Amino acid sequence: MHAVIGDEIRIPALWCEFGHCIERYIHAEASGERDLRGRALAAGWRYDAAGRLACPACAAGDPGFLASQPPGDRQFPPAR
Ligand SMILES: [Zn+2]
Repeated sequence: MHAVIGDEIRIPALWCEFGHCIERYIHAEASGERDLRGRALAAGWRYDAAGRLACPACAAGDPGFLASQPPGDRQFPPAR
């Protein structure tokens, strides 16, 4: 895929990956993609069980959002 508005944007951005949603998250003070992801999650963006990023509206209302991993849920069995 090609960036639609590539050259003008030097700051990192995240896009909602659900349906036809074109919501995006941009933070001018983010130092990089990892930092930006942290800021997005703090702002209500969520990853679903399939690893797709959803904006707050899609995370709350998109039927395709696989919310099978609530925040803080353990993905691995505890060590014995
Ligand atoms: Zn969305």
